[in-house]
Amino acid sequence: MQKRKIKDFFGKILAEIFVDKYNCIVCDAELQERSKYGLCPQCKAKLDFVDKNICKKCGRLQLNEADYCLTCQEHKRHFEFARSCAVYEDVAKEIVRGIKFGGKKYFAKYMANYLVEKYQSAFDGVNIDLVVPVPLSKKKKVDRGFNQSWEIAKRFASAVDLTACDGVVVKIKDTQEQAKLGGKEREENILKAFEVKRPEAVENKSILIIDDVMTTGSTSSEIARVLKKAKAKEVYVFTFASTRYRVEEPTE
Ligand SMILES: [Zn+2]
Ligand SMILES: [Zn+2]
Repeated sequence: MQKRKIKDFFGKILAEIFVDKYNCIVCDAELQERSKYGLCPQCKAKLDFVDKNICKKCGRLQLNEADYCLTCQEHKRHFEFARSCAVYEDVAKEIVRGIKFGGKKYFAKYMANYLVEKYQSAFDGVNIDLVVPVPLSKKKKVDRGFNQSWEIAKRFASAVDLTACDGVVVKIKDTQEQAKLGGKEREENILKAFEVKRPEAVENKSILIIDDVMTTGSTSSEIARVLKKAKAKEVYVFTFASTRYRVEEPTE
């Protein structure tokens, strides 16, 4: 048993160092050269970027050219605005599932590279003081072994020369997986789930929340709400992926 554990341990280290360097992280095709994004050209082409027709508030892709999606029109968002790199479908979905449920922690550096690439254009004119990840509950963190949002956040922050800090906001309630719930249930599920542990770190600061994926935005909005309550000046959200806005979710 002990031997197996040691083998697993070294296997993981080797995977971190080597495996992802020359194979596409999604389809496993051999890469001609090391890719900053870990993807072969075919998979990269399938990654749908979020650029035009986005909701100016939550940053999600919309079917029409309206300034704001219905959810943002009808509900209070506690963040200034949110932006993301890719649509949560196909390749982007596989990447998120890989890091979240497949234990592929090393995906974080590739995801962070997308954030780095988009940061300047998405947050032009915004001065961020502090980068924080969406926290996991203690139990979830133990089960998964790491918080994927923190893994992405710290790599992104160091690349763009920002300060990232874990543990500023903590999750005090072990909520159900948001993806399994409807809009209204999500809101109730997430209520009182977060707490600012270090209010002195956020007071009068502009905070950037990092996450792997944004679905309806209720989690980020709730974190923004507690940050603002702790006197944060402004709160922004930046995620690797976000779901396409769908008309059937206006209950959020
Ligand atoms: Zn591929
Ligand atoms: Zn919106």
